[in-house]
Amino acid sequence: MNRKLKIFIAVTGVIIAPVLLSPLPRFRTPRSTVIDAADGTLLGARIADDGQWRFPGSGEVPAKFEKSLLTFEDQWFYYHPGINPVSIFRSLIGNIKAGKIVTGGSTITMQVARISRGNRPRSYTEKIIEMLSAVKLELFCSKKKILQLYSSNAPFGGNTVGLEAAAWRYTGKSCTDITWAEAAALAILPNSPSLVFPGRNQAILKKRRDDLLHRIYERKYIDSVTFVLALDEPLPGEPKPLPSRAPHLTDHFFITNNGERIKTTIDPELQQRATEILNIHQKDLEGNYIFNSACMIVEVETGNVLAYVGNSTLEDAPAHGGNVDIIHSPRSTGSILKPLLYAAMQKSGDILPNTLIADIPTRFPGFSPKNFDQSYGGAVSAASALSQSLNIPAVKMLQKYNPEKFLDLLHKTGFTTFNKTADYYGLSLILGGGETSLWDLTGVYASLSRVLNRYTREKKYYKEDYHAPVLTLKPDTKTGKSEDPDPPLSASSIWLTYEALQRVNRPESESGWQYFTSSPGLAWKTGTSFGFRDGWAVGTTPRYVVGVWTGNASGEGRPGLTGITAAAPLMFDLVNILGQESWFKTPNEELTIIPVCSRSGFRAGPDCEETTETQVCVNGLRSEACPFHQIIHLNKSKTLQVTSDCVPPDEIINESWFVLPPAMEYFYKKKHPEYKSLPAVAPGCSAGRIIPVMEFIYPTPGIKIFIPRDQTGELTRVITDVAHRNPSKKIFWHLDETYIGTTQFIHQIEILAGSGNHILTVVDEDGNTIRCLFTVI
Ligand SMILES: [Zn+2]
Repeated sequence: MNRKLKIFIAVTGVIIAPVLLSPLPRFRTPRSTVIDAADGTLLGARIADDGQWRFPGSGEVPAKFEKSLLTFEDQWFYYHPGINPVSIFRSLIGNIKAGKIVTGGSTITMQVARISRGNRPRSYTEKIIEMLSAVKLELFCSKKKILQLYSSNAPFGGNTVGLEAAAWRYTGKSCTDITWAEAAALAILPNSPSLVFPGRNQAILKKRRDDLLHRIYERKYIDSVTFVLALDEPLPGEPKPLPSRAPHLTDHFFITNNGERIKTTIDPELQQRATEILNIHQKDLEGNYIFNSACMIVEVETGNVLAYVGNSTLEDAPAHGGNVDIIHSPRSTGSILKPLLYAAMQKSGDILPNTLIADIPTRFPGFSPKNFDQSYGGAVSAASALSQSLNIPAVKMLQKYNPEKFLDLLHKTGFTTFNKTADYYGLSLILGGGETSLWDLTGVYASLSRVLNRYTREKKYYKEDYHAPVLTLKPDTKTGKSEDPDPPLSASSIWLTYEALQRVNRPESESGWQYFTSSPGLAWKTGTSFGFRDGWAVGTTPRYVVGVWTGNASGEGRPGLTGITAAAPLMFDLVNILGQESWFKTPNEELTIIPVCSRSGFRAGPDCEETTETQVCVNGLRSEACPFHQIIHLNKSKTLQVTSDCVPPDEIINESWFVLPPAMEYFYKKKHPEYKSLPAVAPGCSAGRIIPVMEFIYPTPGIKIFIPRDQTGELTRVITDVAHRNPSKKIFWHLDETYIGTTQFIHQIEILAGSGNHILTVVDEDGNTIRCLFTVI
């Protein structure tokens, strides 16, 4: 090999090897968790695990800061290879004269190397390593990247690291919004981070900042007016607390995405107003020892969460569990699931919008539900039962629909917390036997509204339209959509449900709620859990869903803690800030118009007196015809029932009559004075068609009863119950052909029955007889 070449390689190797062997600056320090709103507003942050305010990411370095920094520290930054021989030589001379290291002569790149090595004490060895690392950094990174590394890792005094954290702590705004004066002050701080102390060093800081501003002006980065105004600006003082606009959401991401900077879907203005409104209501609720509330606003189209208030943020909130994020806490649902059952039964054709449902005292295996006001309507339309949130009709509906099918529907629509079997929940599932979270609930209502909107717009169903609320803004990933041939709920069933939920007659709604009528365009439902522990309210317009929970994080119940009194007022105030809305478009293609019995709400039968044209789901065509209208034969004065056995045929008037079963009639009559009981049968006439005068309320024929034992091991007694169209008639009771007692007015009696089959027979004083076969297991 040529000797000159050998020398060249050797010399080059001596220079290059140390550079290549030197460490490449790396930053593995923990980062703060930072939460931004959709528009970039800082919502909140949590300190990094090492106790430093150090924002994640190496964002763009704003021009004002870059110009200030390079003017102050390293004006040849864009021209040197990581080290600046001129300034190193100059500082070396200075250090020799002083006898110690006083100035570094460091470039920005060398400072990056120095910071990455943990700011070790200055020494000549350390200096050489920094220089080699700096050269290596220049080989591997762009100038822009080096500036980013510097500005996100430089110390800015105290526990503030990096430009973005410093900008928020010292100026209360993002580094992209700072002024020239602020940029200049911030550019100085990393050089002597201890400069910023309230009331100390302010004169030095001001002098340095003003000098720097002057140099910036000389370089014509700013004009004279900006320069003069900048000199007048105050200096950064004591670090300010970071914004805390969504503390529970920040905590949420602190756990799920620690050390990351998250761009959320939150609308900062809505978030602030929702927080204020929630706190106003919270103050009132505290008068009744209700200490916690949570609310969410979700945009229907995208599912984006626009406001997320996980709990009260009043001053005394932390003392009452205010730090708990209730939005993700599973709580008893109360009645809040009833609309889904109503929708499911519309879709299946099990009921029509106003089908009468029995509302009579009923015992189901293991529990006997009561209505909120402890009264019974006898029979109520399904829509009224829904808007008044009656419990017994809901349980009867679930029994008819099938709890397992309903649980499956809950899963398919997006509820994630019902993880037990249908047997475990039983029929109480519809009354709050299971738990959901405000997150799931609001998400499901948003999905339903999205499905309805999509259908009325495109006549299509997509599986992807059922999804959880969305919290983070993600780049638009164009994932394919798959059409759903068998959607959990149809647009028409959702629309009919929303129509029913738009009505304003609600329990306890007599006063103070009239103003709801002035804001139509909202389908809403409340729920109250057993023991008054949870008050829910959820409302949807075509564009937004608002979900509200009120209660105590401790789980303590309070009298008066109901969905309607505690949660609904907050929900309405939140709906009001979203502005006026139009109503959902009608999915006409999926609805069919059929004649419906005006009195029973069933599909009109041949004997129904009056019918109404009603929009129903297509399956409604197959629904049961009105079972309550029947033709009866009357005498001329229509006072008695007759038959052709006892009256000449031309004296018989045939008339359609609305006849409810005895138990329903007994309660229905009390609330419906227009209801006419069947006339008595004329003496000497045998009743033509047998219309029962009595009916078992409990036990019902064929039922299997489990009779628990009491503490002494004895079988407990069963209370049986019979409804008679005329309660004043005496009823005689027989169990397995043995007489056990007589009742009048209140037809209930206690019986004691061992395991096996039994026959309960009751006979009234006119000889009418009904029998009930039941089994005790
Ligand atoms: Zn009818």
